[in-house]
Amino acid sequence: MAFRTENPATGVVEQEFTSATDADVTRAIERADAAFASWRNTPAADRAKALAAVAQAFQDRGDELARVISTEMGKPFKQAQGEVALSASIYQWYADHGEGLLEEETLDVGDSAKSVVVTEPVGVLMGVMPWNFPQYQVARFAAPNLMLGNTILLKHASICGRTGELIEEILHGAGIPEDAYINLFVSTDQVTTIIEDPRVRGVSLTGSEGAGAAVATTAAQNLKKSVLELGGSDPLIVLDDVDVAKTAKTVATTRMRNAGQACNSPKRILVPSGMFDEFVKVVVETVEGMKVGDPLAEDTKIGPLSSVEGRDDAVSQVERAVEQGATLHTGGKSLDKDGAWMSPAVLTGVTREMDAFKEEIFGPVAVVYSYDSVDEAVEIANDSSFGLSGSVWAEDTAKAEEVARRLEVGMAYVNEHGTTMPGLPFGGVRRSGYGRELGRWGFGEFSNTKLVRVA
Ligand code: NDP
Repeated sequence: MAFRTENPATGVVEQEFTSATDADVTRAIERADAAFASWRNTPAADRAKALAAVAQAFQDRGDELARVISTEMGKPFKQAQGEVALSASIYQWYADHGEGLLEEETLDVGDSAKSVVVTEPVGVLMGVMPWNFPQYQVARFAAPNLMLGNTILLKHASICGRTGELIEEILHGAGIPEDAYINLFVSTDQVTTIIEDPRVRGVSLTGSEGAGAAVATTAAQNLKKSVLELGGSDPLIVLDDVDVAKTAKTVATTRMRNAGQACNSPKRILVPSGMFDEFVKVVVETVEGMKVGDPLAEDTKIGPLSSVEGRDDAVSQVERAVEQGATLHTGGKSLDKDGAWMSPAVLTGVTREMDAFKEEIFGPVAVVYSYDSVDEAVEIANDSSFGLSGSVWAEDTAKAEEVARRLEVGMAYVNEHGTTMPGLPFGGVRRSGYGRELGRWGFGEFSNTKLVRVA
């Protein structure tokens, strides 16, 4: 798709970007490859210093960056500020820990030879990033890899052109060499060409299953590594000892964050049958009380969806669920105004045969299920093609932890959902993708764990 900012709050096209030509792509690969030779040999302390300067710039320009996020994809400004702060903390984390992660390790394998493991970068990487957390998703990929000494070609989502430009500008301003990080307005065909190029060593994509499968296929055909962070249909299990009103309110608010457009949003909320009616009532009240409006306004809790297509998809998923027998308690309609507006919805009565159970709903739709036993809840939770994260909510945290450990996911939480911090691993199993981002795990995906032995 051509890069274009259509403000989802107004429908107004605010900016268009010039697409890269094939010659631009060829030149960018050459530049990134040449930059690798010097960036990998730049002292790690200097790379860390540049990342710390990136973190500082993110803090200094936080409001400006947040405003662009809100304008491009509709996230409420306060949430966008939070995203920028999280991104800054990721650059800072790798600035603080990168040198330690690069330290050599001497192995004692029971013979007299010297065995050392060194961590080295692999070369030019391709990043393909989505619009839902346009700063954070790039930070997760760029920070560890720049710290390692890899160089990066980055294709952002076509609705996030200005964010893509700003990230590049900040990185270069902070001391990352111009050719070590190159933002490209490229098509998906050009992404294929880039992955096929022998100088490019790997690809990381966050986005849909289809996009993930496409880049992973090209990578595999060319014997290259890929990291995929795809969708999710996270279960959230409420146990029977919670404060119902408080938990229902928190859960509803969590589901509606970013208008429900998060891979790790709690898309299947599982509640004991004994408290089901009361829980649903509070979820509906909470959702109806959330102000839907201008993402730049202080009191807005839910903005528009990122695009009219995204909104239409979410509305039609709700309509299909109702056609298939689910109960719609509130919302779920397109709002009759320009932009990508939808009223937040609450569904119950979704059965495991319905599409709404099997598909990811990437929008402001809380789906609440009832269960009779904890075993049944775990069984429903694990009955998914996805496996990103899941959570269990209870007063008895020891019991909740036991249940959380039974979830077949990459990240299991108790009394919180989807907490993301720079030092914690992030990633899923099944169709949610593979590989890990953040912390020391994110550092290991595109590195050469090299053995050096001296007999
Ligand atoms: P996409 O997966 O289409 O977009 C994510 C990124 O991948 C964008 O940069 C996009 O480019 C690019 N892309 C798309 N197709 C290809 C391809 N064949 N080869 C290379 N790159 C590609 O997400 P959408 O915006 O279409 O959202 C659709 C669904 O994806 C959502 O409903 C949700 O289920 C899932 N999604 C998941 C996210 C997550 O955080 N895991 C984030 C965003 C979406 P372009 O923008 O130019 O199309």
